Parts: sequence; structure tokens; C-alpha cells
Amino acid sequence: MFSLRSSTTTIAQVTGGVCHSRHRSCFHSVPINYRLSHPATRNPLLAFVKCSRKLRSNCNRFGMATFTTRASAQPLQNADELIDSVETFIFDCDGVIWKGDSLIEGVPDTLDMLRSKGKRLVFVTNNSTKSRKQYGKKFETLGLNVSEEEIFASSFAAAAYLKSINFPKEKKVYVVGEEGIQKELELAGYQYLGGPEDGGKKIELKPGFLMEHDEDVGAVVVGFDRYFNYYKVQYGTLCIRENPGCLFIATNRDAVTHLTDAQEWAGGGSMVGAFVGSTQREPLVVGKPSTFMMDYLANEFGISKSQICMVGDRLDTDILFGQNGGRKTLLVLSGVTSLSMLQSPNNSIQPDFYTSKISDFLSLKAAAVWLHSNEI
Ligand SMILES: [Mg+2]
Repeated sequence: MFSLRSSTTTIAQVTGGVCHSRHRSCFHSVPINYRLSHPATRNPLLAFVKCSRKLRSNCNRFGMATFTTRASAQPLQNADELIDSVETFIFDCDGVIWKGDSLIEGVPDTLDMLRSKGKRLVFVTNNSTKSRKQYGKKFETLGLNVSEEEIFASSFAAAAYLKSINFPKEKKVYVVGEEGIQKELELAGYQYLGGPEDGGKKIELKPGFLMEHDEDVGAVVVGFDRYFNYYKVQYGTLCIRENPGCLFIATNRDAVTHLTDAQEWAGGGSMVGAFVGSTQREPLVVGKPSTFMMDYLANEFGISKSQICMVGDRLDTDILFGQNGGRKTLLVLSGVTSLSMLQSPNNSIQPDFYTSKISDFLSLKAAAVWLHSNEI
């Protein structure tokens, strides 16, 4: 319902509900009922585009000015209303729960409050370098009481996906990535090769040289890999191109990642891109913004999708992830997205709400002060 309110508000704010023109015949009401009844309203952006096109089309016919606004996110003002309206909160980790190795202010109290209200908490991350168990240790180190079952990393998603399609146990998985993927595959009972072990391998270019590859590899899983090299590209490419039915799975296609807080670093998308280039195939993505993890969670816990709120700091992964599944979305400005990025005319991804950090759930007064001091 928020999306409808959002679309309506935007157009109404600009036009006052009426499209004005000097030409008498161009004076018509903005079709509020159109937005409420049109199937496109299932997607707020599509709804706006379609509505806007309709208006623009009419306007142009009569020589009227066109509308260029779109639905926009609202600052979170009533946290209780949002909390009461959902039963599960899915949190992205980096930029929401922690930044690097530092906990973001107020997180423990916020999670405690949500748990005391009976909310289910789930933590998702596109980072595939760690397994669920390894992430559990990170939460513990930061003083957070989070169980492995509440953590969904894209490394786990890759193994869960293979399980969901009954990937044959006699087949092997070639891993382009780090330990997290290997550990999750191991837990799921799959044989694998590659990974960090192939990090030091080089190819030898001499006349007639041919690289052998394992014909039992039935899937190549590509994730973020600090030890990425040409050997891995060639080996994985041979598997995908020459082994009949071999799957090409990506944990994520993130353009950048934050290895250090000094700059942005090339993300998992750069490794995946190499294979897209060499195989001319598109991967099956299991991490955000693909809905696989969301659907898995909904099935696993028996949660109605409308009862989920996705909380994240990235528009192109977290918020899109939530919107792709039709869930409520809350953007926090404690990570990579600034208010100016959210409000830039170049940004087309609008969450339902935004706020400075998740501890604003505890004190909306604090949120209001922050938003005011940052000149909304
Ligand atoms: Mg993040």
C-alpha cells in the first residue's frame, strides 16, 4: 500500500491533483483511481512510469507540459507502525549491522528490542568468502547473539540452490571463490575442486599446450575471489562450455566491495564478468538482488512475503532484492548510500522508507533530529 501512497503523493504534490495548462481542453484531473486499480501498481516504479506515460501521452496530444517526477522514498517517521506491520526483518550486514570490523551504534539494543517484540531476524550478505559458521563467529566477536540459522550468506545460497535442484552428488563443483563456498558445499555433501588451491596455478604457453579439465564437473560457482587468475578462468570456461549441462552459478554480481574503508574495490561482479565474456552465457545468480534467498527464506520459515521488511544500505542490491520479492523496504544511510544519492534524479530505485541507521527504531526523535541536521 505504501507504494500507492508514494506514487499518489508525488504526483499530487507536484500538480495538486490537477494537470494545468493554458489550453482549455488540456485541463484534466490526475487519475488517482487509475493508480489504485491499474495492475501496474504492483510495482510502484512501473506504476508511475505507466501513469506518467498515460499523462504525458494525453498532454502531448493537447500540447501540454509533461510530468517528470516519480515516486520517492519517505523518511521513516513511525517506526512502530512499520515494526507492527511485519513479522520478519531481513538485515543486510555491512553498512547496516557493522562497518568493516566495527559495530554500528545502537545495533545490539535495536536487535534486542525487535526480538522482545517477537520479530524474526534474518541476516543476509552477498559476501561469499565466509560460511554461515564463520559469520556466526563474527557476530559473536562483535557481541551479538545471532545463531547460524539466522545467517544467510551467498556462499550458503549457492549450496542451498544446488540442493534445491537435487544436483547429483556424484557430480563435482568447480569453485572460483574462497573458503566460504567450499565449506558450505562440504556441509551440503558436495564434492568440489578449485578455490584458493588454484590461486597459485599458472598456465604454460608452449606449442600444442592443452589444459585438461574434469568432465564430472556439473557446476561452476563463481564468487568474490582475491586469488582470481587466468588459470581459473580457463578451467571454469572449459567446464561450462564443454561439459554437457554444466551450470554457471554466481553468488552475486556486485560491482564493488569494501575490502578496506579507504576505497571501493572491484567486487564479485568482476569475476563473474570474466566468465560471461568467455562463455557468452549469463549466470544464475543466487545472492541479492535475485529472489532465490528471499524465496528460500519464505519457504524455510513459512513466512508470508508481505510480512517481510528488507533493511539495507545499497539500492541496487538490498532495496531491489526487497522490491523484486514485493516486500517492504527500508534504506539506512549508515552504509554506502547517501541521501543525495537516494534523491539524485539519476536514481530510479526508491525504497518505501529511509532513515539514518537501524537504531532509529528505538528513537524516532533521534531520527528526526538527524534528518533535520542533514538537510532533507
Ligand atoms: Mg551492505
